[in-house]
Amino acid sequence: MTTPSMEDYIEQIYMLIEEKGYARVSDIAEALAVHPSSVTKMVQKLDKDEYLIYEKYRGLVLTPKGKKIGKRLVYRHELLEQFLRIIGVDEEKIYDDVEGIEHHLSWNSIDRIGDLVQYLEDDSKRVTDLRSVQKRNEQENQ
Ligand code: CA
Repeated sequence: MTTPSMEDYIEQIYMLIEEKGYARVSDIAEALAVHPSSVTKMVQKLDKDEYLIYEKYRGLVLTPKGKKIGKRLVYRHELLEQFLRIIGVDEEKIYDDVEGIEHHLSWNSIDRIGDLVQYLEDDSKRVTDLRSVQKRNEQENQ
């Protein structure tokens, strides 16, 4: 795994707070597989940039700005998982692929992918048709 970005931290903090009601430095470190000192450093930066308020002994809370972006980042991650799943990507590749692409797409692309997912979900025949194209291509490539 590459070094987690600022967005990874905000996304993870948002998820932890949603799930447990709080986000501790140790939980963030574990979730992102980094050393707690890296978390402390980033959390201080996020505090300075007004995404959260960090008090050493009282933990951290997201500001409205942090919450808003956190929610969008979690939505983006979930949408991309849904997208890769619906287009037929192997389940075991989905998470890592999303981690690899999520920070590189514009919100414009995210919104259009959202449309496409919705289009495919609106009518199950569309997904079935896509699967038959995939089957045909796989057979041709053998
Ligand atoms: Ca992510």
